[in-house]
Amino acid sequence: MSNSARISRFAAILLAALLPVATAGCGTASLKPADMTPVSRTAFAFDTVIRISLYGREETEAGRLLDACMEMADHYDSEVFSAHNEQSALWKRNHPDEPSAAKGASDPELEELIRVGLDWRSRTQGAFSPSLGTLTSLWNFGGDPPGPVPSPEAIAEALSMTDPKDKDAQYDLGGIAKGYIADRLKAYLIQNGVTSAVINLGGNVLVIGEKPDGSAFRVGIRDPESALSGDTQAEASGQILRTVEVRGKSVVTSGIYERTFVEDGVRYHHVLDPATGYPADTGLLSVTILSDDSVTGDALSTACLVLGREKGQALIESLPDTEALFVTTDGAVTTTSGWH
Ligand code: ADP
Ligand code: MG
Repeated sequence: MSNSARISRFAAILLAALLPVATAGCGTASLKPADMTPVSRTAFAFDTVIRISLYGREETEAGRLLDACMEMADHYDSEVFSAHNEQSALWKRNHPDEPSAAKGASDPELEELIRVGLDWRSRTQGAFSPSLGTLTSLWNFGGDPPGPVPSPEAIAEALSMTDPKDKDAQYDLGGIAKGYIADRLKAYLIQNGVTSAVINLGGNVLVIGEKPDGSAFRVGIRDPESALSGDTQAEASGQILRTVEVRGKSVVTSGIYERTFVEDGVRYHHVLDPATGYPADTGLLSVTILSDDSVTGDALSTACLVLGREKGQALIESLPDTEALFVTTDGAVTTTSGWH
């Protein structure tokens, strides 16, 4: 991606990221207006825009907490879960024979997230797989430019190295890292006395509590069709399909409009079907998961894109305190029974 394209993409995502949480309504008379105005910080990490807003904290104190959050996010992004940064614990684990993969203990949080990913692999009949590293590197969705479409032989070869029991298997935690990090940031803020906040990591939205006036946070779910049109204006205006009211919950969306490239008139996107090695093609445009933990929502939103609406819906219905909203390629919206 050229610099200017990157910057305009940044601007577009920035605007979209600002939108998902609707601004507060009028506060109650007992609240000072300042209580309803959050102290916010926006940054660029995980190749996306992240934004954290704290309510009800004095400005200097909030600033200190936000600095610490941004440092944590940067640490996780570059030093732990990055598949590309040669300094990260994940890269070193994936490349044990490289000289820069200094010996030493692996990162405990990396091992924990790999375990969580493997657990979701078994709970989703392999639809979510944390060990697709050889395959995702081959597809090169994060490249500049992304792609090209690999040959069927190369896909078959990369696929043969995605069984976690294989010693050559490489991990790619891109499908759950943002959720995990959002959960860690939430825990940190709660430990530090925050009772009302919104953590938005590129569309993975996790909230703490409710707004200071006792109302719920309203989180917007992007319209996947407008996002897919590739129209920067539409993206910038952040067309919202619907909003959901949440207190203390996570709202994560995975869509086939994220990280795509077009070759010979066909659009390829970055959620891969571990059974075929090709982008999941199940008639879904996006899946939004409402759950308590963000890592759960992140794993399930990615898994459901691969499972398709019917199997995905059955899986979500079987899980407590978890709901889903599906948008199919014909634009139809369906939800699980407890979605409100
Ligand atoms: P986003 O990054 O847009 O929030 P997702 O949470 O859906 O998207 O994760 C997509 C990322 O997960 C891909 O970029 C890749 O790193 C990884 N991935 C792709 N396919 C799968 C899969 N079937 N299971 C687990 N991770 C996947
Ligand atoms: Mg995910």
